[in-house]
Amino acid sequence: MRFKFDEKLQSIFQEVLHRNPGEIEFHQAVREVLETLGPVLAKYPEFTDKKIIQRICEPERQIIFRVPWRDDNGEIQINRAFRVEFNSALGPYKGGLRFHPSVNLGIVKFLGFEQVFKNALTGLPIGGGKGGSDFDPKGKTDSEIESFCQSMMLELYRHLGEYTDVPAGDIGVGCRELGYLFGQYKRITNRYESGVLTGKGLGWGGSRARKEATGYGVVIFTQEMLRARGDSLEGKKVVVSGSGNVAIYAIEKAHELGANVIACSDSGGFIIDEAGIELPLVQQIKEVERRRISAYVELKKSSRYIEGSSVWSVPCDVALPCATQNELTGRDAKILVENGCLAVAEGANMPTTSEGIQIFQDADICFGPGKAANAGGVATSALEMQQNASRDSWSSEYTQKRLQEIMIDIHTSCYETAGEFGEEGNYVLGANVAGFIRVARAMTAMGVI
Ligand code: NDP
Repeated sequence: MRFKFDEKLQSIFQEVLHRNPGEIEFHQAVREVLETLGPVLAKYPEFTDKKIIQRICEPERQIIFRVPWRDDNGEIQINRAFRVEFNSALGPYKGGLRFHPSVNLGIVKFLGFEQVFKNALTGLPIGGGKGGSDFDPKGKTDSEIESFCQSMMLELYRHLGEYTDVPAGDIGVGCRELGYLFGQYKRITNRYESGVLTGKGLGWGGSRARKEATGYGVVIFTQEMLRARGDSLEGKKVVVSGSGNVAIYAIEKAHELGANVIACSDSGGFIIDEAGIELPLVQQIKEVERRRISAYVELKKSSRYIEGSSVWSVPCDVALPCATQNELTGRDAKILVENGCLAVAEGANMPTTSEGIQIFQDADICFGPGKAANAGGVATSALEMQQNASRDSWSSEYTQKRLQEIMIDIHTSCYETAGEFGEEGNYVLGANVAGFIRVARAMTAMGVI
């Protein structure tokens, strides 16, 4: 069940539409949060008086810049890059950089907006921001990636700093890209400022378990949702979308907890392996060779590759969308419900459309929104910042223990907040409200800034 969309909040939403024309993903993300905040404003009228909602929907700073670079043929290429510094009430802006041809201001703003609430949910001192470029790393050589990253940092560096703004990776940005970005930052500033970027390599300031954290965290959150209903992941059939960083480590953790992941995908299609996806093969194909997921069937003859159509047609108990926004539609949600799916947790940001969420909620399926379910990545980034600040390096066991505790706390906080507002089991409401209250309290304390 959903609350009625409060009239005051509806009019603020109309203002957001008017001020940010054409930014459909941003509109969607704002609407999904505002729809759930009516009872919070009723309980805390001071947030209305202080115009917290209007302020929270307006980024503190938006930077758009040109990135010229030379490809391997010596030809000049031009891309556009963005950094949206959304909210710093709880700490320095924190959120990844995405390299994908679809990146535009509306997408970066939706991601930055979500990040504010997600980061608040971790309980760690980090504000929210996001960035990226319409640069497409697919098919580029290492030297082209290096050239692009160096040119991007030549502008970006002046906005960053361990106490100001701390990017990490996202779609298309992994350890290789972060290495080139960090190297250029170090060169320009003449400072070895480890805490300025997270997701770094283990040999140069990175944290153990950061690479695994988002995927592991999604599965820990799923396990907690099932546990709250007296169930567990043991023996469950799982389908994952994507085969990138988040998907790979979600598969690993799901297997570790006794589930069987039978399908995963990329933007070309999906593979089904009823015996269980063999992770070393996926890692070899995606992380080492950077090939398409279809190559899996060459290495595992008993598996199947299906081109184009949606991975959500594969019957499963648990669905983990770990690719990109709006990849799980209302139609997909209906199919999952019809096939008896019990739980969905979002590894990606906003992968389920509003219609899809409604269908899951109506069917009383456990639904973990990305803000809560995929917060393990940014939480471990904050742990990386802690290690950098104290010139320390923690063991994988200790870092994973912290991650596990943080994910369990996030689950508890969402679950209890939903219960407090009379919506037990509604993790969408729980995540939005719990995250919002933390940011709103800090903003209120700091005055009109
Ligand atoms: P990667 O680039 O490592 O992997 C992305 C995966 O999603 C690839 O398999 C890619 O396929 C697929 N994909 C991307 N775009 C599309 C599309 N338009 N249609 C279908 N498939 C697509 O990214 P990550 O794993 O890091 O990120 C995945 C999601 O998780 C994103 O939504 C990101 O914002 C979110 N996230 C990531 C965190 C992190 O720590 N990395 C933290 C929290 C959230 P292909 O290669 O064919 O494009």
